Parts: sequence; structure tokens; C-alpha cells
Amino acid sequence: MFIKTFLPLLLITYASSEKFRFDNYTLYRILPKSLDEIKVLQNLYDSDSRFDFWKDPVPNAEYVSVVSAPQDKGEFETYLNRNGIEFEVAMQNIQDTINREVVGKYTRNNIRSMRWDTYYNLNEINTWLEDLVMEYPSIVTMISAGTSYEGRDITGIKISHGEGRRIIFIESGIHAREWITPATVCYLINELLRSTDPETMAAARDFDWYIFPVTNPDGYVWTHTNNRLWRKNRRPYGTEFGVDLNRNWNTNWLMQGSSTDASTNTYAGPGPFSEPETRDLANYLKTLGDKIDIYLSMHSSGQILLIPFGNTTEPLANYHDALNIGRRAMGALSVRYGTPYTSGNIAEAIYKATGSSGDWVKEHLNVPLVYIYELRDRGTFGHLLPADQILPTAEETTDSIIDLIHQAKRFGYMSSGNSVTVSFGIKIVLSIMVFGKFW
Ligand SMILES: [Zn+2]
Repeated sequence: MFIKTFLPLLLITYASSEKFRFDNYTLYRILPKSLDEIKVLQNLYDSDSRFDFWKDPVPNAEYVSVVSAPQDKGEFETYLNRNGIEFEVAMQNIQDTINREVVGKYTRNNIRSMRWDTYYNLNEINTWLEDLVMEYPSIVTMISAGTSYEGRDITGIKISHGEGRRIIFIESGIHAREWITPATVCYLINELLRSTDPETMAAARDFDWYIFPVTNPDGYVWTHTNNRLWRKNRRPYGTEFGVDLNRNWNTNWLMQGSSTDASTNTYAGPGPFSEPETRDLANYLKTLGDKIDIYLSMHSSGQILLIPFGNTTEPLANYHDALNIGRRAMGALSVRYGTPYTSGNIAEAIYKATGSSGDWVKEHLNVPLVYIYELRDRGTFGHLLPADQILPTAEETTDSIIDLIHQAKRFGYMSSGNSVTVSFGIKIVLSIMVFGKFW
């Protein structure tokens, strides 16, 4: 009786939600053995928008991740086989993995109910941020970088223990489907406020943290309501939707790794800063000017730490420092669970791609240390990282960020009040060593 009454209603509800399904869509993990094979894959990347590359074919790529719709799989596998390219099926039916995903509920006014074994939608994340402001009113403030195309606030929080500190700025969720990035950044926020680890407490105290878990709110909402694998924002262009917000910044716009075709996942928009999300965030960043010491842009996946610039393999001025600092921090990342990361310049490691936030921040704001994280994993789940990997990913990433600060100071960066004290201390020690007395 119950079933008979409710079944038609359920079917109607389901039909009206128009959720895009990925039944029998397959995730491939391709293992190229030579530069020739990479070039074959690059041809496909450049010429055929039917295939969704989750990890791009770059020189020396250990693997390349591609999703194919069921009707294109035969052609795709034939193409690989004809070129002698080795591949494996990482996920036979993507919809099965999506069905298993865990999206939790957060209980308002109970910050301890926030969990690290589930993903959350935008409302839940923002409610939790509001609760943090209530819980830590003298330390945490709500900040806004502007408004999305659909009118949503681009919400973040500032953690500050006082005036005059240098800034660490973290931008995440600019690519909507990379759910592990807001989850990881929320964990970091939690640690900065509640950890009892002395180094984490010092990091929280010594800097002003500006953290935006979801910089593409419309896209993120869309991944929860309609299409789990949506990457761009949701602005309509003709009959298509969405601009890749990490190709839309006014820095070598449309030069490399971007498209003029609105139907593709790397559509750069009709012009640089055409989108409210990037324009507002850039204007907000300009108000912070030269106070930013570290800028982090969070993405997934591939376990890579990247350094600008995306259009050239020519190193930037402090490239070797930035790389050394980054490599050491990735060493710290791997301590807890042994997760390996590779580090390098975007153009060598990712495939040339311009118009990104990291390049713009480096070029226009001269931020000394800019890093782009590509979080877990390496092609097994890609953007559909299971919820039981949120906590380990977040823990190891937090370890690395704390170490990044430590290493940056060792290399003479982070000109905050705190590091001035440290170098003065070192001067005193050196003076004593050299002169046997203070002066
Ligand atoms: Zn991304």
C-alpha cells in the first residue's frame, strides 16, 4: 500500500531533479611509455572534447586519466590499442562510485558535529563557518570576496590573533567537482582554531589566514544537485554553460591549455575576467596587496605541488627557493601516510595552461610563494575520492602547510614580526659565536 502510493511520486521527483547520470561511464588510467605516446594523447586532448581528461598528458606523465561515455569507449580503446598505448580501467561504472558517495548533515550550533569522513554541501559548510565566528568571535571573522553569477556569496573566513600580521591566503574549490579541496581546507581551519600542537598553534597565531573553501559556489552547488562532475561556473554562453574559472584570470589569457569553445571543460570565457567570480576575487586580493606571503590554490588530483608559471618552463625569479621549500614541505606531507608528491613548474608538470589564479597572483601581486596543490589520488578515484580518504588527505596536507611556513622562514621568507624576532635571535647567537660577546 505504502509503496504503491509513493512510487509514482518518487519517480516524478527523480525526473524533475534532472540529475545527470554517469551510468557505464568509465575512468581509464593510461600508462604512456614514451614521449611519442604522450603526443598521441595530446592530439586527442586538443582535438576531441568528448573525452574528459582528469589528468592531462604532460611530458613524463606517470599516468593520464580520461573519462569516456559508454558510446565512445569502443572508439577510445581502439585508438589506444592502435597506438600501442597501455591502459587499465580504474572505474568501470562511474555512477556506482557516485552512488556510494557520502554527503553529510552538519548540526547548527554544534561545531563538534562537523565530521571528516563525509563531504558537505555549500549550505552546510557556510553554516559551520558562521558557527565558528560565534564560537571564536575575537579570532574569526566572516569575509566575502564578492558574488557569483547566480548571486551567491563567495564566503571565506579570516583567522587573526591581532593587527599587522602577514597573510597566508588559501583559495579552494574553484573547480567545482574537486570536492576534496573544500573538505581539506575546512579541516585546516578546524586545526588552526582547535589544535593543541605547538607548531600549528604558532602558525595560527603568527599569521592572518584568509581561507575561502568554495570560490566557485554556483558550480559546487551544481555538483551536489545536478552533475557531480561539473568543473566550471554556471554562467550561460549561448546554449552552453560555464567558464573554467582557472583559465579566466588576466594573465596570458587564452595562450595555452584553454579553449574558445564554450562546450569544453577548459573554456576560458569571452575575455579575461569576464566572470564575476574571478573578477571579484582578484579585486579582493588587490586590497590585500603586498601583505600576502603565501598563496595556495587547492585542486585535485595527481599528488603534485605546482609552481607558476603555466606558460613557460623558464623559471621565475625565486624558482629554486620556491621549489626547495615546496619539496621539503612535500617531504613533511609524506611522513604520516607515505603519500608521494611530485613538485615542479606547472608548464612541465601539468601541460601548459594559462589564465590561472596562481599565475595572476604571482605576476600581478608579486606574492613570494605561490603553490598549487593537486591533492590525492593518482588516478584510482580522481575527483571521486572516497570519503574515508578525507581525513588522511586533510591531515597530511595540513602537515605540509605547517612545514611550508617553517621552511619558508628557513629560506628567509615570511617577513612577519615573528620571523624578525627569530632572525634577531640568530644575530645575537652569531655575535656571541664570532665575537665572544654581544657587541
Ligand atoms: Zn582543479
